[in-house]
Amino acid sequence: MRALETWVIVVAAGAGERLGSDRPKAFVKFGERTLVAACLETFEFHDGIDGIVVAVPEGFETDMSLIADDIGAGKIAAAVPGGASRAESVANALACLPDSAHFVLVHDAARPLVDDALITRVMHGLAEGADGVVPALAVTDTVKRLGPDGAVSETFDRSSLRAVQTPQGFPVLTLRTAIEKAAGSLASATDCASLVEAAGGRVVCVDGDPRNLKVTTPDDLARALELAG
Ligand code: C5P
Repeated sequence: MRALETWVIVVAAGAGERLGSDRPKAFVKFGERTLVAACLETFEFHDGIDGIVVAVPEGFETDMSLIADDIGAGKIAAAVPGGASRAESVANALACLPDSAHFVLVHDAARPLVDDALITRVMHGLAEGADGVVPALAVTDTVKRLGPDGAVSETFDRSSLRAVQTPQGFPVLTLRTAIEKAAGSLASATDCASLVEAAGGRVVCVDGDPRNLKVTTPDDLARALELAG
């Protein structure tokens, strides 16, 4: 029997101002290619992935198809214009998934070093029936909340905190419903799992990967290039 289809949404529509580049972050050079090409190549060649939709900045659709040709990415079904926030970019891409897509993994183009093993861990979590699966790392710094006056108001118990990454996996219907329910407050969502949690879904963690860092600043870019070897 054919396995249930798993599709990927790569969100690549952010401006990435903190990187200080003249182009959107996903299209910044990463070695010989671009940040977005690095993760697309990994999803393209993962056996469990059936198709990919990329959310790109308005006007970058042609750049995206050139990148897809360059890496021989036959699984990229569409490049859609992103929205004003990350979650709106996800919603635009979600609308383009075919009916055959059962699971979806949502990944930040800003994480070029995602690897096969991490993708497989998230897919296993989905196969076990979770409403959401997130790769997570233990928090090694102590985390504090600041009050309105800027002074510390609370210190968290570090042992129960996790820093989460992407790809985050969901049944397509679960993510669609969560996004519909959160329609008025999408702009404040920094990940998809928080929307599924707010809708009452059960989100579980699998081991993240310290190499799978998110490129935000020029220092992050240099570190990711170093890790890529
Ligand atoms: O800004 P940040 O790095 O948190 O964005 C995470 C990911 O979401 C990036 O890959 C970025 O391109 C994407 N994004 C998007 N549409 C937006 C904002 C961010 O696709 N409007």
